[in-house]
Amino acid sequence: MGHAGSVLAWPHGARRTARVRQRSGIAAAGRGRVGAFEDPNEGYVYARHGGPTTDLFAQAVAQLEGADGAVSFASGMAAIHAALLAAEVGPGKGVVAARDLYGATQTLLTSVLGAQGVDVRLVDATDLGATRTAVQEQRPRVVYVETISNPLLRVADVPALAEIAHEAGALLVVDNTFPSPYLCQPRAHGADLVVHSVTKYLSGHGDVTAGVCAGPEGLLPPLGLVGRLVGGTLGPFEAWLALRGLRTLALRMERHCGNAARLAAFLAEHPRVERVYYPGLESHPHHELAKRLFAGRGFGGVVSFEIRGAGMEAVGRFMDALRLVLPAPTMGDVYSLALYPAQASHRGLTPEQRATLGIRDNLVRLSIGIEAVEDIIEDVERALAAV
Ligand code: PLP
Repeated sequence: MGHAGSVLAWPHGARRTARVRQRSGIAAAGRGRVGAFEDPNEGYVYARHGGPTTDLFAQAVAQLEGADGAVSFASGMAAIHAALLAAEVGPGKGVVAARDLYGATQTLLTSVLGAQGVDVRLVDATDLGATRTAVQEQRPRVVYVETISNPLLRVADVPALAEIAHEAGALLVVDNTFPSPYLCQPRAHGADLVVHSVTKYLSGHGDVTAGVCAGPEGLLPPLGLVGRLVGGTLGPFEAWLALRGLRTLALRMERHCGNAARLAAFLAEHPRVERVYYPGLESHPHHELAKRLFAGRGFGGVVSFEIRGAGMEAVGRFMDALRLVLPAPTMGDVYSLALYPAQASHRGLTPEQRATLGIRDNLVRLSIGIEAVEDIIEDVERALAAV
């Protein structure tokens, strides 16, 4: 991958950069650059303001995402919140967001920011005409989408959305958690800020909660300021674990994508499977877009599918029968994980609301790990027989 070489060769360059920064006080990501603590001679003064390991991690992600800099946070949600604050959303400076977002992101937008007077409009972001109309009517400060949505794996047309946002003077903020920069670098397609739940592919081992936001020079000072003042600072040990994960990002993603493509093809032929959602399948409505955006490297490690005729009990039997694939509310781990959206990520919605989003009661989401693909297929096949 384009930037992988520089990150895999990270230790020397990054250590040197950190030393330069400590001497000059030019902390990427706004550290030490804004507000009362500005001090051209400062080093690392206080843990909530960041430290060398958290900065190195942020800098590595900035390289991967083709950004001027980045700030790391204690979780993906903290990074998303900081991105929105740095973009200065507020009363009269609203957000047009994709309606099929990670549930907590949607709640952050509609409940927390909504309560502060931020006008949040949810749209079907795959409908570019409807999105353009909403953006032109509302003139928001931010257009917010996920590159690949959860759990139906719809793909955002980032270049077209960037044009729509910029025409209206808005920033495009993209949650790039699902593809990771291995598959897609939204900034190369016009996005302004890129956020990640580092908890997923970037750290990669299911043992870290972290987030990061990467962006252009001009937005780094407010991002750093929010990080320091709101205090969702990434801890040094988590940053170290996340850096360990980044070293194998390309290798892991290659395997995640290869395994997921094999499983998706298997499921597409299975008589107990009604429908498979995977952007790598030609039947997926955004297959061509995904090919363009992901530069032929693959289509991600998540596969969703509907079990034919299954209700909640039957899906429960499927989940219980899995032995290798573990039930878990997360994804992007080296181990394969299963999630039942109707009773996990989207349980807060009514069946009607889920139906509007296209999330049916027979839908299962699998995050495909890096195990031998034959073992994953065997486990899923056995569990399907138990339905
Ligand atoms: N964005 C996406 C796409 C996610 O799936 C998640 C968590 O599942 C988040 C953001 C939030 O990240 P975190 O749990 O690290 O706060």
